[in-house]
Amino acid sequence: MWDCIIHACVKSPLAMRTIYTSWLYENKFFEKFLHFVIRLMPIEILKNHDNKFLPSEIFNILSWEKLNDENLTLERYACHLYTEVLKKLPAVVRKWWNISSSRQKTFVDRLTTNFVSPLICEGELSSISANKEKNENMQVTVHFSTREVIAVYFIDEVRTELTIVLPSNYPLGPVKVDCGKNIGGRLSSRNDALQLALFLNHQNGTILDGLALWKNTLDKKFEGVEECYVCYTVIHQDTCQLPKLTCKTCKKKFHGPCLYKWFTTSSKSTCPICRNVF
Ligand SMILES: [Zn+2]
Ligand SMILES: [Zn+2]
Repeated sequence: MWDCIIHACVKSPLAMRTIYTSWLYENKFFEKFLHFVIRLMPIEILKNHDNKFLPSEIFNILSWEKLNDENLTLERYACHLYTEVLKKLPAVVRKWWNISSSRQKTFVDRLTTNFVSPLICEGELSSISANKEKNENMQVTVHFSTREVIAVYFIDEVRTELTIVLPSNYPLGPVKVDCGKNIGGRLSSRNDALQLALFLNHQNGTILDGLALWKNTLDKKFEGVEECYVCYTVIHQDTCQLPKLTCKTCKKKFHGPCLYKWFTTSSKSTCPICRNVF
């Protein structure tokens, strides 16, 4: 059943994904789920969670046929589910992990670093590597040994760089995003790198999704789309929309949800920039 829930969350559009997962989280379903999944893992894994030389194949994702195999053990299924949820809904597991007791936190960290993270990193980096030729204006280099992804976006005379480093306990620990050289000035890159870091660390998306978001933002900026004056991004984090609402007076642009949030927190319906009635 949990396979279906994870699947439903992953297949839904980003905005719905956020709603589904936060509902499951708020109602403590994830907490119970993760608690049981870990308890069901094979005893030798639980006892030797610190031993990185133990084979980690047991954590490989199972195919549909294998899942329906009647000889499938509960232990094997638990390992599969743990990898699956970490891979597909990393932000949820990360949130749970961050508020766990320190003993549990260390235990889960060691277990994940030794058995699951290498599998997930390998998968993420391979999928980036396999898709790197598909992007116009973007060149991507993947370093497997250092878990590093370097992306270069270039268009006309403009060129901007980005480095993403996955931690050894990925996706539990935060992904590091650095903006490198930025030539041409027209695309200020610090903000976009920050948006990407926020996306990678707080949303349930893959690195590949994040890179697509980054490229999309730069494309839109290059086409002349202005940033929203509330959140300073082009593409809205949850809805993926562009800033569509324009103030009649100062002509600044805003995302619908950002403006709505501003109206409710300030309990006024004035423009956040020029303070005239919107
Ligand atoms: Zn906004
Ligand atoms: Zn205004």
